[in-house]
Amino acid sequence: MHNVVILGSGCAGNTAAIYTARAGLNPLVFEGHEPGGQLSITTEVENFPGFPEGIMGPELVANMKKQAERFGGQFKYGTVVEADLSKRPFRLSVDGEWLETRTLIVASGASARWLNLPNEQKLIGHGVSSCATCDGFFYRDKQIMVIGGGDSAMEEANFLTRFGRDVTIVHRRDTFRASKIMLDRAQNNPKIKWLTNTVVEDLHDVEQGVVTGVTLKNLQTGDVWRQDVDGFFVAIGHIPNTKPFVGQLDLDEDGYIISHGGARTNIRGVFHAGDVQDRIYRQAITASGAGCMAAMEAERFLEAEGH
Ligand code: NAP
Repeated sequence: MHNVVILGSGCAGNTAAIYTARAGLNPLVFEGHEPGGQLSITTEVENFPGFPEGIMGPELVANMKKQAERFGGQFKYGTVVEADLSKRPFRLSVDGEWLETRTLIVASGASARWLNLPNEQKLIGHGVSSCATCDGFFYRDKQIMVIGGGDSAMEEANFLTRFGRDVTIVHRRDTFRASKIMLDRAQNNPKIKWLTNTVVEDLHDVEQGVVTGVTLKNLQTGDVWRQDVDGFFVAIGHIPNTKPFVGQLDLDEDGYIISHGGARTNIRGVFHAGDVQDRIYRQAITASGAGCMAAMEAERFLEAEGH
């Protein structure tokens, strides 16, 4: 029987592990299908407080893990595939093996949706990004492309005009899912160019190990052409990792956990932390803050229950 099981080893899960471990609760962290979370696939992080010279994303998240282990946090590879939260202790099936826990912190994140282009994954961190706030700074005076037609794409494109020489939005249709205000703002931005009814067919250049251009296709004319690009930002949405909890935790229409205040879910003893609930801020520092909140709530809950 575990006191605390934490799902996810990004900033949220690792911070929850540091706090619950330090409180003597011996947390068990399941690292999930993306150990280290989204930081593990970024390069330099310049906006996490406390690192005036910046720090590499994988190093930052590895440091958090080490810090949790120092206080007795245990980490295991594994992903929860099924859960029974109908009564306490909660039961979780981790890759087919069932275990029991008094509290659960769901910090399983939201995975960026990718285009699944042949070279996309190989160039993440080398020109391909899913986070303008994280990586925009590296593209000062460069040519930037943003893929998508929703609010995220508009917001990222607007933000990226602070850095790039120009920013081209590529969208597969000519009508937009983005809200009017966000679309207007982008359309009124003179640094933004538009390619509608257009899809990306390929990314170059894997041999050089960095993004140098894309192959595009106009879906109406069938034209295919190559265009130079330095920064390729994919903003086509995120998928929250909440599948095992459907029908048990309150989720919104896109699958994000609905908060019941603080770090609480609709089930007592189950807490949320990070991007699995937060579709707005999605930053390393906010995820860490949320992990701290979830840990403190789990600690208080266990104390109130006499454990
Ligand atoms: P979204 O609204 O689901 O939009 C995703 C966009 O990506 C759509 O334009 C979609 O095209 C496109 N797309 C999806 N899969 C694609 C693929 N395989 N290839 C090419 N294009 C693809 O996602 P989001 O923009 O991340 O927004 C998610 C939610 O967060 C929304 O509710 C949004 O309002 C909210 N949000 C709000 C703000 C804000 O208010 N500041 C900022 C960001 C996000 P189609 O339209 O053709 O399907």
